[in-house]
Amino acid sequence: MDLKKKRPFFVFCHRKSSKKEKNYMNHTKYVFVTGGVVSGLGKGIVAASLGRLLRQRGYSIAVQKLDPYMNVDPGTMNPLEHGEVYVTEDGAETDLDLGHYERFTGVNLTKYSNLTSGKVFYSVIEKERKGEYLGKTVQIIPHVTDETKRFIRKNAEKTKADIVITEIGGTIGDIESRHFLEAIRQFSFDVGRENCCFIHVCLVPYITGSNEYKSKPTQHSVNELQGIGITPDVIVLRSDGPVGEEIKRKIARFCNVDADCVVSDITLKCLYDTPVALHKEGLDKAVARKLKLGGRIDLKEWRAFLKSVKSAKKTVDIALVGKYVTLHDAYLSVAEALNAGGYACGARVNIRWVDSETVTAQTAPVIFAGVGGIIIPGGFGNRATEGMIQSCRYARENDIPCLGICLGMQMMAIEFARDVCGLKGATSGEFEPQSDCKIIDLMNDQKNIENMGGTMRLGAYDCVLKPGSAVYAMYSRPQIAERHRHRYEFNNAYREIFEQNGMSLCGQSPDGKLVEIMELPGKSFYVGCQFHPEFKSRPDEAHPLFAEFVKKSVQHSMETNK
Ligand code: GLN
Repeated sequence: MDLKKKRPFFVFCHRKSSKKEKNYMNHTKYVFVTGGVVSGLGKGIVAASLGRLLRQRGYSIAVQKLDPYMNVDPGTMNPLEHGEVYVTEDGAETDLDLGHYERFTGVNLTKYSNLTSGKVFYSVIEKERKGEYLGKTVQIIPHVTDETKRFIRKNAEKTKADIVITEIGGTIGDIESRHFLEAIRQFSFDVGRENCCFIHVCLVPYITGSNEYKSKPTQHSVNELQGIGITPDVIVLRSDGPVGEEIKRKIARFCNVDADCVVSDITLKCLYDTPVALHKEGLDKAVARKLKLGGRIDLKEWRAFLKSVKSAKKTVDIALVGKYVTLHDAYLSVAEALNAGGYACGARVNIRWVDSETVTAQTAPVIFAGVGGIIIPGGFGNRATEGMIQSCRYARENDIPCLGICLGMQMMAIEFARDVCGLKGATSGEFEPQSDCKIIDLMNDQKNIENMGGTMRLGAYDCVLKPGSAVYAMYSRPQIAERHRHRYEFNNAYREIFEQNGMSLCGQSPDGKLVEIMELPGKSFYVGCQFHPEFKSRPDEAHPLFAEFVKKSVQHSMETNK
C-alpha cells in the first residue's frame, strides 16, 4: 500500500480542520506511546524500536515527543538535571530521547519533533496577548489542547510521513501531562479512531519473596488511562526477565486487549536488540493489524548489524573526561558514538568516566594508565576546566589519541596556546571576560544577546576541509555539515601563531571566518572540533571522526598494553 501516492496536498490551517486537511490526515496513521507505573521505563526505546520496525516494513515514519515540563525546551537545563540536550539538524534543542529516535530509525528529526508544556502554554499566551482568541476565555480545553493537536498535525504535514509516532513523557496519573492525554484522546476522534494506535508501556515488578511478577500495577494504570477516555490497543510489559504467558493472558483479560497485543519487553544486554526482540513478541504485527498496514518486514540489515556488534573481539578503554560524569546520560550521544566507532572496527569500548575536577599533572599518569584514547566532550562554565586542559596536555605529550568536542576543542586550543605558543595567560572569554588573552571568545552575533534560551549557534552548518589533512581523509569529502551548540569560538587573532607553531586549522566555515576543526599533524590522532559529531553518529553507521578515533585508540591500546 503506497500511502504517499494517495495523499493530496493541503495547506495547514489554523483552527478548524479544512476538508483538504481532513483528507490528508486520513492518510496519515498515528501511534501514541504512553507510560505507566514509573518513569524511566524506556518508552523512548519502545517508540524508537517501533519506528525502525515500521520503516523496515516499507513505511516512512516520523517520531516526536511531548514533554510535560514547563521549560520551553531543555536547552537551559543543567545537564546534571536532565541529561544531554540533543540538537537536531534544524537547530532545535531537544530531549535526549530524540537521540534514540534518530539512532534507531535512521531518520533525521526536526523542530516539530519535541513539544513541551512550556512551549504550548507560551504559544497560547502569546496568541492571547495578540488578541487572536477574539475575546474568548482562554482555557486548557480547548486552547491548550488545540495547540497540541496542531503541533502533532504539523509534524505530519512537514514530514509527510506515513506514520507519526508520538511519545508522551511522564507517567499516567501525573497532573503535568493531563492536557497532553486529553489532546491525544481528542486527536483520535479528529482523525478517526481507526487511524490511531495507543500503546501503553508498563512496569511489571518482580517480588523476590513470593518469586513472581505482578500484574496489578499494570491493571491499575490501564484503568486510569481508560478513565481519561483512552483504551490502549497494545500493552508493552517492561520487566527484568520473562514474565510468562499467564501474566500476559491475565493482563489481556483485565485490560480489554487481544491476547497477542500484550507484548513483553525485557531488559536486554544490548539496547539495539530491542527492535528484533519486540518484533519477535509481535509488536509491529499488532500495530499493523490495528492500523491496517501492509508490508513485509525485512530485518536482514539490522540483524547483520547486531551480528557485527556481538562479534567484537577486542576491548579498548577510552577515558571520557567531563564535568558532568556523575550522570552518564549527560553524555548519552557521545557514549553511543564511541560504541558505534567500536562496532565499526570490531572492538568493545569500555568508557572510563573521569571527573575532570580530579585531573592534575600529578594524577594524570594514574588516571590515564592503560587507556587507548581520551575524549573531552562539551560543557558550559569554568568549573573543572583546568582538568580538561591537563588531560589535553597529557594526551598531546604522550601521543594518546585525543578527540575534543566543542568545549573539548576549546580546551585543546587553550592548552596549545599556553604550552606550545608560550601564551601563558591563554583562556576563554567564557571564564575570564576581562582577560587580554582570550584564545576562545564570544562570537560576534552573541555579544548583545539577553535571553539565554535558544540563542546559541545551533544546528547544522557547512564546514570546508583542508585537502591533505587527516580529517579530510577521514570524511573523504571536501565539505561536510555538522551540528553546533555553542556561544564561543576560536579567536581569529590567534590563527597565525597557532599555524606557525604547527596546529593545522583544517576545517573552516565556507566564508573562512570561523575555525571549525583543528588537528595536530604528526600525532596518531589529535583532533578538536567546534561542532558535535556525536549527534550524527548512527549505531550501524559510525561517524567518520569517531570511527577513526576508536580505531586509533585500539591501536594505541594494543601497542602500550602489550
Ligand atoms: N561553553 C562553550 C561555548 O558556549 C562550549 C559549548 C559546548 O561544549 N557545547 O562555546
